[in-house]
Amino acid sequence: MVIYMNITELKGIGEKTADLLNRLSVYTVEDLVGFYPRDYDVYEKPVFINDYIQEPERNITAIDGVVVKSVEMYNTGRLRVISTYIKDCEGGTCKCVWFNMPFLRNTLKIGARYVFRGHASIKKNQMVLEQPQLYTLAQYGKLMGEMQPVYPLTKGLSNKVVAKAVRQALEKYKTGLEKEYIPSEIREKYHLAEHNFALVQIHFPKSMEEYMEARKRLAFEEFFLFVLAVRSLKEKNVCQKNEYVIPDDKRTGEFILKLPYKLTDAQLRTWCEVKEDMSSKHMMSRLIQGDVGSGKTIIAVLALMNAAFSGNQGAMMVPTEVLAKQQHEAMTNMFAQFGVELKVELLVGSMTAVQKREACKRIADGQADIIVGTHALIQEKVEYKKLALVITDEQHRFGVNQRRTISEKGHNPHILVMSATPIPRTLAIIVYGDLDISIIDEMPSDRLPIKNCVVDESYRAKAYRFMENQIKEGRQVYVICPMVEESENIEAENVIDYTESMKKSMPDSIRIEYLHGKMKPSEKNRIMELFSAGSIDILVSTTVVEVGVNVPNATVMMVENAERFGLAQLHQLRGRVGRGGYQSYCIFSTASKSKKIKERLEILNKSNDGFKIAEEDLKLRGPGDFFGVRQSGEFDFGIGDIFADARVLKAAAASADIIMSDAQWSDRQENAVLKSKVDEYTLRCLNKLNI
Ligand code: ADP
Ligand code: MG
Repeated sequence: MVIYMNITELKGIGEKTADLLNRLSVYTVEDLVGFYPRDYDVYEKPVFINDYIQEPERNITAIDGVVVKSVEMYNTGRLRVISTYIKDCEGGTCKCVWFNMPFLRNTLKIGARYVFRGHASIKKNQMVLEQPQLYTLAQYGKLMGEMQPVYPLTKGLSNKVVAKAVRQALEKYKTGLEKEYIPSEIREKYHLAEHNFALVQIHFPKSMEEYMEARKRLAFEEFFLFVLAVRSLKEKNVCQKNEYVIPDDKRTGEFILKLPYKLTDAQLRTWCEVKEDMSSKHMMSRLIQGDVGSGKTIIAVLALMNAAFSGNQGAMMVPTEVLAKQQHEAMTNMFAQFGVELKVELLVGSMTAVQKREACKRIADGQADIIVGTHALIQEKVEYKKLALVITDEQHRFGVNQRRTISEKGHNPHILVMSATPIPRTLAIIVYGDLDISIIDEMPSDRLPIKNCVVDESYRAKAYRFMENQIKEGRQVYVICPMVEESENIEAENVIDYTESMKKSMPDSIRIEYLHGKMKPSEKNRIMELFSAGSIDILVSTTVVEVGVNVPNATVMMVENAERFGLAQLHQLRGRVGRGGYQSYCIFSTASKSKKIKERLEILNKSNDGFKIAEEDLKLRGPGDFFGVRQSGEFDFGIGDIFADARVLKAAAASADIIMSDAQWSDRQENAVLKSKVDEYTLRCLNKLNI
């Protein structure tokens, strides 16, 4: 039994700081040393102003410049602002702005030379530095090249406090420092640094090289423990006897024939695998992976039907209420139309207490054959009569833990999870180590490929006319903005203001509404339902529409500030159009002049294939590019990124294979530490991962 040390035991961490750290899920000193920097502040060589204007990539930038104007001072609201202009030796000029630092006025004399280091941006074609720190050339020269950890913080918590506490934990208490537990053959083979070295260096790297070594080791050990933990789970699954043998039912086969379309070969293959699993000797634990729009839902419906026809119940859990209602309605209608006599029940959080009670009663007494819902399926006090199959749709929104909770509601039901995350098969096999995998790698043949374009802001008027024409033909439109409302610090389109100005430049007859994550759930549902029903023409939204919503009548998607999203996310967003028989269009708009950003967006422009996009993105980012745009919230390992660190992941999986090829590995004395690490990992980390 491990005893953890509370963070308040560290000097300098009082109750207040502890509260702030708790908010970041740091409770113990052990958590703290595992709380890795999100970035490092590197005091880089000062850049030339004109170079920055050409390629405004970095945020924190240093300029070696001379003050060329006398300081201006004014107030805005409660802020005291001072500003001046500096010039570098190539002649470029840059505005510098400080808030609430009036005393700087005495330092900023015309002709004074400093290195100014602060948040850089371009405003009205001019470079601006905000809150720059001032260094003499000598001071800056000394700092150059050093790496300071930058921790993910929360309001009120300073980086200095965290860094000091981490140093104390490592130096005084040796927290996290332990006996090496990865066998030396493996360490040699993959050139892995020692654990203790890596843990110290990840917080306080002496150089980029040491940082890279530390990172590789820690990513490896994380993946290694993960794979061992997941494979151990799978071994348990494989041994589980099938307690609900679900045969294929004639009525399901007839239903397939009545569908208005023919299943693709990939769908048929997947359906066969699912059928076989459910009627085989062992329980099913299967993942269906297929790009957005590949038609995963129908496979789920068929599996649910077989489960219900065999006298059992099947449940499907989806990530949003809108989606739950949509699936419930679609299934109910289909069953009515094709004469399938099964009762589909809905269970979502926004139902009234009475509605919920009645639904739960029908679930408990077996009147409900198929149950569709959100987290309510596991949160509410639901008793199932005979739950034999659990499906989670868009599974990356549910963790291993939630999957397990809903499984425990039944007596070990069959598990089917569906994911639209396009990751290459070689990685999928590792990451979903506890599941068998079916891949739907074929789009329905009636689909017209989406037409894409990448444009700048000057194209907006033209895009609006295009939307008007589509709406005249009866179609609908999504516009995606990165922000909910206006922000002082970030220049990007926001849903609320955008909707206002869009209404002004469109005819009154066009119905425009907005949707974002901060709205009340009931309001969100209302808007989404209106859009589904065709009563809204243009939906201006944040990425909340990303997950699974099906409005086949929508044919245009315009993404504003497309550079602010990861490629995988943009691809998911794009999946909201092109879901019916109509030609669909996706317009990626960006104000950025950066070549790199254009290159990334070009990948989307050229391909509609999620798997290919993930791979291309990976190539473009390169294995060293850890601080680029994160793919999205899924596969949230502590330090490893399954895409950028794909090779490390594969090496870790191969190493785990070697260890596990010895059936008694976990009983051997030399593996005792490793075994306890795997157990700890299963307990502490596996449940937190979104996999
Ligand atoms: P996803 O894989 O993203 O969950 P869906 O299951 O929602 O995709 O399917 C998208 C749309 O394609 C739905 O409207 C569905 O009815 C339709 N569809 C599914 N399979 C086929 C098929 N074989 N041929 C034509 N349309 C299909
Ligand atoms: Mg879906």
